Amino acid sequence: MAELPLPSLALRELGGIPLLTDDALARTAGVRVAFTGRAGGVSAGAYAALNLGSHVGDDLAAVEENRRVLMAALGLEGSALLVPSQVHGTDLVSVPSADAAALKQARAEAAEGADGIVVGAPSVAALLCFADCAPVVLVAPDGRFAVAHAGWRGCVAGIAAKAARVLAADAGVPTSQLNAYVGPHIGPCCFEVGDDVAARFAAAFGTGCVAEDGVHVSLARALAADLAAAGVDPARVCEAGVCTRCHPDEYFSYRASGGVCGRHGALACRLEG
Ligand SMILES: [Zn+2]
Repeated sequence: MAELPLPSLALRELGGIPLLTDDALARTAGVRVAFTGRAGGVSAGAYAALNLGSHVGDDLAAVEENRRVLMAALGLEGSALLVPSQVHGTDLVSVPSADAAALKQARAEAAEGADGIVVGAPSVAALLCFADCAPVVLVAPDGRFAVAHAGWRGCVAGIAAKAARVLAADAGVPTSQLNAYVGPHIGPCCFEVGDDVAARFAAAFGTGCVAEDGVHVSLARALAADLAAAGVDPARVCEAGVCTRCHPDEYFSYRASGGVCGRHGALACRLEG
């Protein structure tokens, strides 16, 4: 099994949709990772345009069309799509195969509430939805992957490390061989929290993830510390370095919008072949 290329994220336009992706990973491991923004869809108003979230007040037909357009842009029309009901927890849904029974079981678990999906088969796409929270995608050398949602609760509870351990165990490799991608999220410039939350971050990941003012937290640093503690190689952690709240025209931001907004996505899928 070949080792993965070191992760990198570049802005590309695929099928008319601008997104952050790693072409070298797609070429070598057959896994397409995509972090979308607002551009490229059909939703209107606060949800314009590529809203992928179905629970935020947008027209459901528009959301379905946006998901269809995204899958087509990535050449994934023939793949199954799983979108969990995110609940700020640390439960992961495992999808070991693409057969109908496995997909049915996974969809039922995902609908119950989950914040990560671990996929072991080709032609199964996992999509999670975001507006300031941090998306984390992990990829193993054999093409298995996990997509997770890390808001502050999930981050403090260690969802990134948990996903890394589960994925590595499934793939039968050490966590040091995984690639990790942290997508656009609210940056330390804007992520102001209360004293209690800041203290929880410092206790979990050290004071390095809390700014000197004591109220601004770096989710990226916290996630990096969490992944490192799980054995992920820091050289294999790639962070998008974009603050969603600073760029509300390009990304959905819960805080910048006052709470009414769409959701951009983190999607991964292994292509057949
Ligand atoms: Zn910012």
